[in-house]
Amino acid sequence: MIPSRDAMVSRLGQETFDLVVVGGGITGCGVIRDAARRGLNCALIEANDFASGTSSRSSKLIHGGLRYLEQWEFGLVHEAVTERQTLMRIAPHLVRAQAFLFPVYADGPHSLAVVNAGLWLYEGLSMFRSPKLHRNLRVRQVQQEEPILARNGLKGAPLYYDAATDDARLTLETALDAIHAGGVVLNHARVESLCKSEQGRVNGVRIRNALSGEFLDVQAKVVVNATGPWTDRVRALSAKSSDLLRPTKGVHIVVDADRLPVKHAVVCNHPVDKRLLFAIPWGDQSYIGTTDTDFDGDPKDVVATGEDVDYLLAACAHFFPEAQLERADVIATWAGLRPLIKDTDARLESSVSREHEIFVDENGLLTIAGGKLTTYRLMAEEVVEKAVQLMDNGIGGLVPPKTDQEPLPGAVGWPLNGDPETVAEKVRAAATHGISPEAALHLARRYGTRGIDIAASLSEEGGAPLVDGRPEVLGIVDWAIQEELAQTLEDLMVRRTQLYFRDGHQGLDVAPRIAEHMQALLGWSDARREEELSAYRAEVARSRRWREE
Ligand code: FAD
Repeated sequence: MIPSRDAMVSRLGQETFDLVVVGGGITGCGVIRDAARRGLNCALIEANDFASGTSSRSSKLIHGGLRYLEQWEFGLVHEAVTERQTLMRIAPHLVRAQAFLFPVYADGPHSLAVVNAGLWLYEGLSMFRSPKLHRNLRVRQVQQEEPILARNGLKGAPLYYDAATDDARLTLETALDAIHAGGVVLNHARVESLCKSEQGRVNGVRIRNALSGEFLDVQAKVVVNATGPWTDRVRALSAKSSDLLRPTKGVHIVVDADRLPVKHAVVCNHPVDKRLLFAIPWGDQSYIGTTDTDFDGDPKDVVATGEDVDYLLAACAHFFPEAQLERADVIATWAGLRPLIKDTDARLESSVSREHEIFVDENGLLTIAGGKLTTYRLMAEEVVEKAVQLMDNGIGGLVPPKTDQEPLPGAVGWPLNGDPETVAEKVRAAATHGISPEAALHLARRYGTRGIDIAASLSEEGGAPLVDGRPEVLGIVDWAIQEELAQTLEDLMVRRTQLYFRDGHQGLDVAPRIAEHMQALLGWSDARREEELSAYRAEVARSRRWREE
């Protein structure tokens, strides 16, 4: 059981924290997990839901980034591929090996020899600890493996391995682990301003609890700004400051796997600008991404445009001509902002460096900017070490956080070298009322060993599918509210169930049923239930605006 929201709000108002983190994306959640595991008294405030910003809108890869080799960023690649191993160990249910196929064409930007040499270097930088070493497929083998791939000019394709994840759940489980270690974590509460001492040092934050409308001052020795694309906005709350970021937008589109049946993540260079793109298998769906364009609007307004979707469809038409994908095939899209650090020399969007940096303002506000999902744990370590240095009277009694060894909640008890199928058997055995094999596998894949607890808690009604033919069961809604801090219909539809991306109608048909169930669990009034439904419908409509462009 996790503490109730009221209990966490009450702690926020009463205690002085060593560290308060602003932002509940992967960066902020990583920081509070590290801090809590060291024994620091810490809290995190998230304006919306965990991972509602960039951290649920990535390409969902835990990787070194092959294209950084072209930029000679070997240190960055080494760090990331080493971290890939760590994350596969601490979260085997969420970070899994993913096979990639890199088809090489006669008119493409790279020869087979160059791609092959790059992959040896890539694997060397991980000390050859890739999930598996790469091998080269001849044209006929490529055609057997990926029959829908364009054949004209195909020279062959190296098959290599990286890892894929569920970015939103990785973020959420990181936050849950911080709570288990004693941290206070509150979503749907925005930091409205920064509190300062008489000497002008930042010593807390003023938050507005979006669910109650109440304001609260939270005292802290150090405040960490981990707000990704909102970094400059939060820094501006405390002092006049020049911008650190140059955000770029990345869009993905989702189609049914029947329409783009790829078995591997396929790497392609866009036919127009030669940028690297991926077509990635995603269970019953496949997704294609990403674009990379400058963005200077409000981060909350980032959305796919018709131009973004057409750009991705053009790549599909080139590499998968038989699929004949068109706009009508696109079930959903997601758009996110890369919180990239400004680089005045950068000319092209995709040549901007992804490295992170820690900044300390004169008033003591500590900001972590840049970075990527893959390296969040290392970034967190650096941030907390810096924060401890900043604490006025120092701090004693801390223990090593061991964030590279301690499993995330769903990985506790995960069998050594086990796979989701083994855990799914235990999930099924634990279900008192019985659930389908597909539902059991789904629980094992998304919740790890906690899927066993979910199955054991399911009533007969709770084991029923949310959407006919899909594996999500109604009991997930109860679990998300009672154990995973879900507060709104959007939290449920977008990040806790993913129906927004995976259901052909983006969950619009089932949303009223889920809202009613949430109403019963959370004691909502009828008016609140209708507001939640309207907000969700508006969000779906916003994500579909590109269809009219
Ligand atoms: P965010 O996830 O955006 O979190 C910031 C949070 O701060 C938000 O939740 C927001 O609500 C909150 N916030 C803002 N203002 C306030 C306030 N006033 N009070 C309280 N909270 C506030 N990395 C990889 O390793 N692998 C990939 O495959 C990959 N693909 C990517 C693809 C795309 C298209 C993009 C855009 C990025 C990708 N990345 C990838 C990078 C990675 O996703 C990001 O670096 C990472 O998610 C950033 O996390 P964050 O926590 O810093 O920011």
